[in-house]
Amino acid sequence: MRQSFIAGNWKMHKTPAEAVALAEELKKGLSDCKHKLLIAPSFTALDAVSKVVKGSNILLGAQNMATVEEGAHTGETSVLMLKAIGVDVVILGHSERRHVYGETDEMINTKVKLALEHGFEVILCVGETLEEREAGNAEKVVKTQTESGLKDVTEAQLEKVTIAYEPVWAIGTGKTATPEDADQIHKVTRDTVKNLYSDAAAEKMIIQYGGSVKPNNAAQLMSMENIDGALVGGASLKADLFLPIAEYDK
Ligand code: PEP
Repeated sequence: MRQSFIAGNWKMHKTPAEAVALAEELKKGLSDCKHKLLIAPSFTALDAVSKVVKGSNILLGAQNMATVEEGAHTGETSVLMLKAIGVDVVILGHSERRHVYGETDEMINTKVKLALEHGFEVILCVGETLEEREAGNAEKVVKTQTESGLKDVTEAQLEKVTIAYEPVWAIGTGKTATPEDADQIHKVTRDTVKNLYSDAAAEKMIIQYGGSVKPNNAAQLMSMENIDGALVGGASLKADLFLPIAEYDK
């Protein structure tokens, strides 16, 4: 039985003081939560939020990371810097990184391997655009992104990888994939892991769904066989929305 994993991606929202206040509220509200939990504040709030969640049942996530450890990379954040402030998990390949900032499958794979080498957990995001879905290519795109993202990742390292299926057309739009459609792509993703590694690796792989997850649709999505949690954007910014999602019951 896979443990459900609920993650909040705060994107480019909240000052450090606002982020600390939300983290405090979530820590209090989720102290008895049975699911695995993560919050990913922006870089400027990571250090302050790290101090709040330390020792709690909430993991700390970064929303991105550079492809190299250090050097002349203005504006980037290194794996070593994230390590130094107690980050546990790095979200990589988010659709905004892929489609707004032009990150390629190769760059994402480099980051995945670097994060794993440094002992981080990784959430690898995959998902098709509306154009790709309408052209009938959703499964192919997700399969390719999964294979490329995991290239040269060993089966032992895979224990620290979660995959988030996030159809780009459902992110921040209020549109959600139907539970059945989402489950179908999750199944394709799980089969891809099976072909790359083994039955056991596929069975263990936590695959989150992301794309306009809200309190009123979380439990239904999570009840599907291959959906093992959620990566939540907009609804993770308010405790009264995130708490009921994180505490959903199948
Ligand atoms: C996301 O950014 O990963 C996301 C799923 O956003 P939203 O929940 O707002 O659609």
